[in-house]
Amino acid sequence: MTNSDWKASYQDNLLGVFGQPQTCFTHGQGTRVWDTDGKEYLDLLGGIAVNALGYAHPEIVKTISEQASRFTHVSNFFTTPQQVEAAQAVKRICANGWGSEVQAEIASQARVLFVNSGTEANEAALKMALAAKPGGRAIALKGAFHGRTLGSLSLTYKAPYREPFAPFVGPTEFVAATVAEIEAVDPEGVSAIFLEPLQGEAGVIPLAPELLAAARELADRAGALLVFDEVQTGMGRCGKWLAHQGICHDGKEIIPDVVTLAKGLGAGVPVGACVAMNERAASALKPGSHGTTFGGNPLVSLVVTRTINLMEELDLPAHASAVGDAWMQAITDAQIPGIKETRGQGLLRALVLEKNIAPQVAKALFKAGFIVNAPAANIIRLAPPLIIELSEALTLIPALKNTLKQIEKDLGKGEQL
Ligand SMILES: *Cc1c(COP(=O)(O)O)cnc(C)c1O
Repeated sequence: MTNSDWKASYQDNLLGVFGQPQTCFTHGQGTRVWDTDGKEYLDLLGGIAVNALGYAHPEIVKTISEQASRFTHVSNFFTTPQQVEAAQAVKRICANGWGSEVQAEIASQARVLFVNSGTEANEAALKMALAAKPGGRAIALKGAFHGRTLGSLSLTYKAPYREPFAPFVGPTEFVAATVAEIEAVDPEGVSAIFLEPLQGEAGVIPLAPELLAAARELADRAGALLVFDEVQTGMGRCGKWLAHQGICHDGKEIIPDVVTLAKGLGAGVPVGACVAMNERAASALKPGSHGTTFGGNPLVSLVVTRTINLMEELDLPAHASAVGDAWMQAITDAQIPGIKETRGQGLLRALVLEKNIAPQVAKALFKAGFIVNAPAANIIRLAPPLIIELSEALTLIPALKNTLKQIEKDLGKGEQL
């Protein structure tokens, strides 16, 4: 079958929620992936910030095969050494970047619930907050993305995602991502405050430390749980294990009550985690009040542990920070016409375009063999595997120049894009 045969057959057999797939892939290696036409792509999106170790990493290949030969599933009536060790590894990275006192607190109090996706991690966090303080409403930020299942969707801002499915089980109040708006929230009846320390889907927008501090204060005043959704920003993506780590305000650490993880957590196997960071959050959900059949099975658990170990050995958060900074500096220095600025942290970056042509740019780059995406009309998002070398990342620059020049030319001719 040809590439277009596969795409046609996709339309006939799969539900249409993702639209027309751009191509049909066969395999990958490192930062590269190939389609059924044999065409090679440099993946600068990492399967949407998932493939932190790239494709077919030999250690992950070995890990999956090793665990498959023991067992892949036992149910949560039981545990396995793999599951316990994965929770230890997750707690270790959640404590990273803080002073020894905070680290000791997290080590003794934090507890991990493994689930299967980002949205499920946020569902669990929402239930945790409602169990800790029943009956209240949630606060989320304008621009927020927390997932697509109904609980998480109630916290997701974009109207076309939300509105067809309203009303939701619990009410959410959306506030602008400013200190003033957060301070103005009436703490009465607030159970949960959700935020992404760097808003991904909104266009890669880092939040100021003062804003995180205002959210912490609001949660304390309300007796609500503060949830940091690090599904996209976590796992070294932003140059630290978690994007909020080490951020202080007026000399005080800003520690959330709950952290949610997924995307990069399992190097491509589906796994999420809802981490209760303190005793109050950890004791909110009682036996029987939540559950999952697949969550934390020994296969994904061993992959989580090995992914974290490998990322520690390779010091990938620091690598992401160094490569990301040098890459954006080179793009800025190249003064490419049509690019207004860059923003983001580590290897979660956005190119802000002068015009609303990001979908066309992404499409043209794809033709040229580069995978990126356009979360907004003027934003190109870059989230490559964290193993990427600067030399590879820099090959985007000439392609960007050509692409933007060609699109400008076509626009000048009045062509329909
Ligand atoms: C991707 C994402 C989610 C949802 O994760 P799924 O695994 O797709 O359910 C939630 N929050 C943030 C910040 C995300 O980027």
